[in-house]
Amino acid sequence: MMFRPPVVQADVVVVGAGLAGLTAAAELQARGRRPLVVEAGDRVGGRTAGHLVAGQLLDLGGAYTGVLHSEVRALADRLGIGLQPTEAPGSALFDLRGRLTRADSGHAAYSALAVGDLLELLEELSADVDPAAPGAHPNAAELDRLTVADWADQRITHPDARLFTDLLVGEMLATDTTELSLLHLLFYLRSGGGAHYLTAFSGGAQQDRFAGGAHALCERLAASLAEPPRLRTPVMRIRTHLRERLLVQGPGIAAECAQAVIAVPPGPAARIVIGPAGVGPDASRPSRSRSSGCAIKVHVVYDRPFWADAGLSGWVTADGGPVRYVTDDSAGRHGLGVLVAFLTGSCAAAYAAQPPATRRADVLSSLSRWFGAAADRPLEYVETDWRSQPFVEGCYAAVPPCGWWAETGPMAFIGRPADERIRWAGTERSPAFYGHLEGAVRSGLHAARSLLDNHRGHR
Ligand SMILES: Cc1cc2nc3c(=O)[nH]c(=O)nc-3n(C[C@H](O)[C@H](O)[C@H](O)COP(=O)(O)OP(=O)(O)OC[C@H]3O[C@@H](n4cnc5c(N)ncnc54)[C@H](O)[C@@H]3O)c2cc1C
Repeated sequence: MMFRPPVVQADVVVVGAGLAGLTAAAELQARGRRPLVVEAGDRVGGRTAGHLVAGQLLDLGGAYTGVLHSEVRALADRLGIGLQPTEAPGSALFDLRGRLTRADSGHAAYSALAVGDLLELLEELSADVDPAAPGAHPNAAELDRLTVADWADQRITHPDARLFTDLLVGEMLATDTTELSLLHLLFYLRSGGGAHYLTAFSGGAQQDRFAGGAHALCERLAASLAEPPRLRTPVMRIRTHLRERLLVQGPGIAAECAQAVIAVPPGPAARIVIGPAGVGPDASRPSRSRSSGCAIKVHVVYDRPFWADAGLSGWVTADGGPVRYVTDDSAGRHGLGVLVAFLTGSCAAAYAAQPPATRRADVLSSLSRWFGAAADRPLEYVETDWRSQPFVEGCYAAVPPCGWWAETGPMAFIGRPADERIRWAGTERSPAFYGHLEGAVRSGLHAARSLLDNHRGHR
């Protein structure tokens, strides 16, 4: 016989205990409501996660923030979470087209002029995209059909700018130019503060980390709620047939509530059936929601940041092997040394298909090429493959397939569910800073405030 959980009564149910859902819940609670947060996974935090190695906290998911991220920084401040600058002194390395160069070596890895022109062109094109409705661009269908690879092959003549286009897309969106529509790239740039801001550390979106890890934001928000989030409780259906109440259902939950926020990424959201009894999956919602965005983050921990002895910052950009980018996440120059290798798009997929020993040997061999033999003897090797998380589907954020914006309408991600009592939240629902922690916080605040307004209107 199937287990039927007893029906609980709730005020507002928030589906998803990532940063967006928890922000929404905290905002609702601050305005006098009693939210119940329901989470499919066995922890809060979603695409943020922390891991402690010898007293050093590693950010396995979302980590960095910049000056334009006003809401998440204000939230951190309210929660008593400080910021640590990411700036690491020393020279960056470039391993491009088989040639290894140091940023200070006098041999530029690529033409700054050509790359500058590329960024200017992208800024110019993205200026016409409304981040609240990318599909409303007059040439939306054309821009959305065209892959960034095809566009770059036609428009970008300088080989360095062409190479940089691939690197930029991998770094920012964790996908390949062959998988990404030009419209989505332009939208992403516009939403996130522009290409210069998005790619920069100092003064840009990667300027700081959260002391204690970005997941601490979620843990503290969860701890502030009167009702602790219910974990291991996936939501599969929201029934809207009851006159005053919604019925939120899943294998471990049946909750009647007045209003709900669905704060989950677009892929899992498309699998939640919303409607009266008897309604199946909504055919008008995205069927091709599976994202091509895919990143594996590898933390390699050493007893000290030995690369600093050679005047290196620990940062690498590469176009050859599986590792595309390396950053230094050490907490200063006197504790453990932490290199973070990012593998993105098809590189990540190919790497994940290898046995664990081969994967580790590949990454360590790249690090040894860049930082010397000492890189081959880490204290710890921590690999986080976000592709394998069943309730995430797409990281850093969902990347819709080509044609998706134009096919599904201008407000595809951002629009509201049909029922007035329900709101979407999640970084992919935010016109500003889509894909970032900042977007998650803004979407959560927006969903909560809009539900509160709606509630007041009905009283
Ligand atoms: C490797 C990596 C690096 C990143 N780096 C950065 C960075 O440096 N800076 C930055 O700003 N952003 C970064 N991001 C992006 C950032 O982490 C995300 O934008 C943000 O955490 C998304 O929060 P969210 O609440 O919208 O979604 P999520 O964190 O995905 O939360 C959604 C929650 O909903 C749950 N859920 C899903 N389906 C259901 C269901 N049916 N029922 C119940 N629960 C469900 C999920 O388990 C999850 O906990 C990174 C992401 C990754 C993965």
